Amino acid sequence: MNPRNRTLWLLVLLSCLVLPEWNQAQSRPEADLIITDAKVWTVDKSLPMAQAVAVLGDRIVAVGSSTDIDTWHGPHTHLIDAGGKLLLPGFNDAHVHFVSGGKQLDSIQLNDASSPEEFARRIGDRAKVTPKGEWILGGNWDETKWNPSNMPTRDLIDALTPDTPVFVSRYDGHMGLANSLALRLAGITAHTPDPPGGTVVRDAHRNPTGALKDAATDYIYKVIPPLTHDQRLKIVKRALAYAASVGVTSVQHMVASYEDIAVYTELLQHGALTTRIYAAPSITHVDDLAKLGIGRAFGGPYLRIGALKAFADGSLGSGTAYFYEPFLNQGNNRGLLSDEMHPISLMRDRFMKADAAGLQICTHAIGDEGISTILDLYADVIKAHGETDRRFRIEHAQHMAAKDFERFAQLHVIASVQPYHAIDDGRFAESHIGHDRASRTYAFRTFLDQGVRLAFGTDWEVAPLDPILTVYAAVTRATLDGKNPGGWFPEQKLSVAEAIDAYTMGSAYAEFQEKEKGSITTGKLADMVLLSDDIFAVAPEKIRDVRVLKTFLGGRLVFDAAAAHQR
Ligand SMILES: [Zn+2]
Repeated sequence: MNPRNRTLWLLVLLSCLVLPEWNQAQSRPEADLIITDAKVWTVDKSLPMAQAVAVLGDRIVAVGSSTDIDTWHGPHTHLIDAGGKLLLPGFNDAHVHFVSGGKQLDSIQLNDASSPEEFARRIGDRAKVTPKGEWILGGNWDETKWNPSNMPTRDLIDALTPDTPVFVSRYDGHMGLANSLALRLAGITAHTPDPPGGTVVRDAHRNPTGALKDAATDYIYKVIPPLTHDQRLKIVKRALAYAASVGVTSVQHMVASYEDIAVYTELLQHGALTTRIYAAPSITHVDDLAKLGIGRAFGGPYLRIGALKAFADGSLGSGTAYFYEPFLNQGNNRGLLSDEMHPISLMRDRFMKADAAGLQICTHAIGDEGISTILDLYADVIKAHGETDRRFRIEHAQHMAAKDFERFAQLHVIASVQPYHAIDDGRFAESHIGHDRASRTYAFRTFLDQGVRLAFGTDWEVAPLDPILTVYAAVTRATLDGKNPGGWFPEQKLSVAEAIDAYTMGSAYAEFQEKEKGSITTGKLADMVLLSDDIFAVAPEKIRDVRVLKTFLGGRLVFDAAAAHQR
C-alpha cells in the first residue's frame, strides 16, 4: 500500500469509528426493552459489571449505568426494574438430548426409587394406565441408590407387565432393563450373541436377565415404534417451555435425528423456537452432511447444524468406559470401545471425511484410554489437513490420563463437560477406579490451568437441565449422597465466575458463536436471565435454591416466574 492510500484508509477507518457515535447522539432510536437497576454480570472482560441494558430488536444496544441507559428510554420502551437482582447472559447447555429430555418430562420416573420393590411398584402402576401394547420407556433408574445395589432383572417386573413391553433405561443411558415381553418382541434369547460394543447380561444358565448394555440395547430400540411427527412436535414444545423456565437460552443437541431437525425447522418457520438450537447428528451420517456442503455452525441464530456426534466408549457406572487398566473388582474388565470404533480406522475415516467437509466433531469419550485414542485420531486429522479453527470437542472428558492434559490443550480440543455428573458419579467413582484415577476425574481446575477451554452442559436427560444445579456442582463438588460437603477432590472446584463463564462464553465458543452470544455485550443477541438471588453472594451450598425469575431470548420475555405463579 502506498503512503497516500494508507492515509485514505486511515481516514475511512477513523470515520467508521467516530461517525456512529456522533450519529447516535443526534438521533438515537428508542430501545424496545430496558432492564434497569440490575446487578449485571456481563461475562465481558471489557466491562465486567453494569446496572442496566438496552435492547433494540433482538440485540443489545447498550450496557452501562442506569443513568446512561436511561437515554435510550422512549415512550414505547418496555422498562423492567430488576430491583437489584442478578442479570446474567442466558445459559447455553453444550450437551443435551433435547427430545429424550422432553420425553422424560412426562415419562416414568425411577431415578429416586430407593429400592428394587419401589422400582417394580412404579413400573406396575404405570402399566395399569398404559394402553395395551404401548411401551413403557425412560425411567433413569439408579441401582446404586439401593441396598444392596444389585442390577435389576426382568423377574422383578414380569408379573406386573404381562401385556406391556418395558424397556427402562439406567440413568447414564448406557444400559436398560427389558421385561420378558420386550425381549420376546426383540427376539433376544439365550442364543443371541453379544454384539460388538455391547453385552446381553445373562444368568448362570446363559438366559438373558433383561439387562442390556450399550450396543446390545439396539436389539430393543430396533423394535420400538418411532415417534410420530406430532408426538415429537409436542415433546419439543414441552422441552422448549421447560428450558426457558430454567434460564437455558441455547442448547446443543447431541445425536439429533433428522426427524428432530425437521421439527425444529417447522417450529423455526412459525417463530416458535424459544431456545436456540445447534443440532449435531450422529457421525454415522457424515456422508449426508458432507454432500449438503454445509460447514461448521451452518444456519441462523435460532437453528444451526454442522457438527457431528461420535461415540468412543461407554460410561463409568455401566463398566463400559474404556480404560488403560481394569475397573476395580470387575476381573479383567477395562470397558468397551463403542461399535463406531470397531475398527478404530472406521472412526478415523469418518473424522477425515467430516473434517474435509468443514464439519465440527464432538466425540463422547469417558475412560482414559477412550479419551487418549480420540486425541490420537484428532491429531491424525490435524496432521493430514493442517491447522485451522476446527474446535474439536471431547464430550464428558471424564477420566483423564495424566499425560493427556497438555496434549488436549495443544490440539485446542474443547472439554465439553457436565459438572452435575461429578457430584453424581462422585458417590461411587473411587470404588470403581480407585483414588489415583478418581483424582483426574472431572478435573475442571486442571483443564483450566492447562489452558483447555471448558464448555458446560448437563447431558439432559441423563442429568437435570437446570443450570443452577450445574453451577452448584462445579462450585461445591458436594456429592449427592452428602458424604463430601467440603467437595469431592475439592482442588478441582471452580469459582462461580468461572462456572458462569464456561456456561455462557465457553459453550458459545464450542458452537462458533462467541461473537453472537455468551456475554451481555453491545451488538450481541439479547439472551439474558434474571435470578432470584445473587449466586456470587449466597453461601455455595445455597446456590441450588436460586431460581430463575425471567428469561429473555433476543429481548423477548420467554419465561416469567411471576406469570407462571399466577396460572
Ligand atoms: Zn450425551
